[in-house]
This record gives sequence, structure tokens and C-alpha cells, in this order.
Amino acid sequence: SSSADSSADLYGRHRRVLPDWLALYYDEPIELTHGEGRHVWGADGTKYLDFFGGILTTMTAHALPEVTKAVAEQAGRIIHSSTLYLDRPMVELAERVAALSGIPDARVFFTTSGTEANDTALLLASVYRNSNAILAMRNSYHGRSFSAVGITGNRAWSPTSLTPLQTLYVHGGVRTRGPYAHLDDAEFVAACVADLEDLLGHGRPPAALIAEPVQGVGGFTSPPDGLYAAFREVLSARGVLWISDEVQTGWGRTGDHFWGWQAHAASGPPDMLTFAKGIGNGMSIGGVVARAEVMNCLDANSISTFGGSPVTMAAGLANLTYLLEHDLQGNARRVGGLLLERLRAACAGVACVREVRGRGLMLGIELCEPGTDRPSPERATAVLEAARAGGLLIGKGGGHSTSVLRIAPPLSLTVAEAEEGAAILERALQAV
Ligand code: PMP
Repeated sequence: SSSADSSADLYGRHRRVLPDWLALYYDEPIELTHGEGRHVWGADGTKYLDFFGGILTTMTAHALPEVTKAVAEQAGRIIHSSTLYLDRPMVELAERVAALSGIPDARVFFTTSGTEANDTALLLASVYRNSNAILAMRNSYHGRSFSAVGITGNRAWSPTSLTPLQTLYVHGGVRTRGPYAHLDDAEFVAACVADLEDLLGHGRPPAALIAEPVQGVGGFTSPPDGLYAAFREVLSARGVLWISDEVQTGWGRTGDHFWGWQAHAASGPPDMLTFAKGIGNGMSIGGVVARAEVMNCLDANSISTFGGSPVTMAAGLANLTYLLEHDLQGNARRVGGLLLERLRAACAGVACVREVRGRGLMLGIELCEPGTDRPSPERATAVLEAARAGGLLIGKGGGHSTSVLRIAPPLSLTVAEAEEGAAILERALQAV
């Protein structure tokens, strides 16, 4: 059709004017024109069930009327900067985020992205501790700025090892392959703690350790129970701060908990947490929550012109209200639990599936070469294409290679949609 031709043409123009490293999904990338609930439509009229937009932008639902209305009303009144004038929606959202954060004496700083949030957390930690040494997890993803790339252990997303930080990478993210693969949970935790203690013997005392409670881009992998609690014991004895990157795990996505760090609650709340992505339901909001003592350690001005913009804050307030009033965390737990069951059933007997895992509406399927342990990025790409042909959008990720299918729908997913998506995915897996 002519609209399909025009998307192909747009892709040609995209490739001529945008960077080569801005890689899109699919051989023929999709131009999305509108969305509603858990569905999106391509320019050629194709309707897709969206099992990935939830983690990117759309935490609750596409075109949520409450958010659209709040944005339009605020945009019609005033869009200004929160940096020089009082910003009522920002104060209100900050109060709500501080209260929800679990961090005592919390202060909130709003940014425009997860990258900028993590950058701010690194700045705060470095100044507070007078050290630019940062501990980060292998296989981690924390953003695209120079310093965020410098704490990103996932080689597929870290174009340089040059960094303004002194980064020490800690084991603990993945152990499906490599030297720790044969260990049980307790042995793995002990080995990682020994590795951490060994690293602490080198160089400056680190400012902080930053970790994702569930590694997102790295393929939805969780550390074994007890690992982060054990790490924190070692680190807090030395005054090293804990930064929880909740950009993917925040706001109830993992079902059982509102924040990812709560799955490791034996160690108490982190010193700082960072958030972004879906809280604005597509409007660009990121931020840092820190204990006041840490947040207030800067003695120079530091502003983000668009961070806390009233129009994004209005979206955040409306979205958060919807999320809480409709108990979408509970929905993530219930519908996510059912979806995990369906996916496990769909994958039983599929030779290229190595593991089906996850919590809430953050589920991963790791693919391998049948009968081996070797990751299969080719199969992951093929399943993505087959699912698209069946009307389902999913994501991919993974550290060693991009061999994990990632499933993260908007948190309002219904049971019927979960079942429909699982059926499409089952056919896609079987076709591949
Ligand atoms: N941290 C994590 C855990 C992320 O998944 C991402 C984005 N994929 C970021 C930080 C960076 O967020 P942004 O793309 O908004 O800069």
C-alpha cells in the first residue's frame, strides 16, 4: 500500500540523516501512528498488541485519557522551567515520590531521562564521598552519557572503555555462563562477595555501588536472594553508598514490590534511587531520590532546564494517580503470574528455549542453540519478526549476546490480552 511504501521511504531517509548506531527493530521498521490501551497501530493500518512499550514509555496504557487531558490542560496554561520559578505540579509529584520511595528524609530531583538521573546520582555520590570510583555490575545498563556508559557493563551498549570515572565491575548479574555457571546460589553469593572484597582492596575507596535490582537491557536477570544484602553489609561498613537504578523495576512492574530494591529489603532502603521511563507515560521524566544529607552535598547551583517541567509533572501526577487507584502493581502480579505460566507452557518442549524467567510484567525468554548452552541471537531476531507478523510486539536484550526475548507490556494488561500474546508467541517460537 502507499502508506507502507511511505514508511519504507521514511526508513531510507532515517538511514541517511540519523546515526548508524540508532538501530531500529525489524527488517522493515514500524512507523507507529497511534495507540490505545495495550495496542498500537502501524502506518499501514496493522494493529499490534504491545508487549514491550510498557518498559520504554507507556507504563499504564497508550493514550490514557487522564494523562492526555492533564498534559493538554497544563500545556494550554503554562509550560515554563522549574529552575527559576515555583512549580506546583513538581512540588506535588516530589512529595508523592518521596513518600513512596521508602528512603527516610527523602529529597527528589527531577531530570529528563534515566541517563541524566544516573549522571546526577554519580555526581552526588562522587561529591559526597570525594571519590570518583564507582562499583557497577557486570552486564549492567545505566544510560548513554559519557559517565553512564562508563558504568555500563553490557558491552553491546558501551562503545568505549574511556570514562571520567574509575569503574570497578562486580560479578553478580549473570551466571548462566562463564566461571560461576556451575555454582549453586549460596556458593555464587559467597564467590561474588569475595570478588567484591578483592576489588575493594584496590584504588580509592569507592563512592558508591550502582545496581539494577533486575537487569533490564541485560536480559531480565535477577541476582540470587541474599546477594545484594550481603554486598550492602560489606559496603556500608566502609561508608560506600548504594544506588538502586529503578528505571525499569520501579512503580510496581515486578508485581510483588513497588520498587525492585524491596525484593532485597533485608538491606533496607538504598541511599539513592533513580527512576525514569514510564512514570510520565511517555512524557520525559527522570529523577533521583536521595537522603537529604546526600542530596544537599552540592554547594554550587545545578539545574535541569526541562527537568520538572510542569507539563511532564502533570503527566506524572495523573499517571501515578491512575496507577495507584487501579492497583496496577497488583495487576502486574496477577496477570504477570498468569502470563509467566502460559509462557512456560508455551516453551515446554521448544528446544531453543534455555530459560523462562521474570517477575510481574517483566518476563524474559532466553534462547540458545538447541541442545547447547550457546546463546542464539539469530533465533531471538527471528522470533521477534515472527511475533510481529502475528501482530505482537516484544523486545530483546541480553548481555553475552542479544538472545533474550523481553516482555514488558503496559501494567494495565488484561488476562485476555496476556493469553492472546502468549498464543502468538507460542506460534512464533514454533515457527522458528
Ligand atoms: N537505567 C536503566 C536500568 C535503563 O534500562 C535505562 C534505559 N534503557 C536507563 C538507565 C537510561 O534511561 P534513558 O534512556 O531514559 O536515558
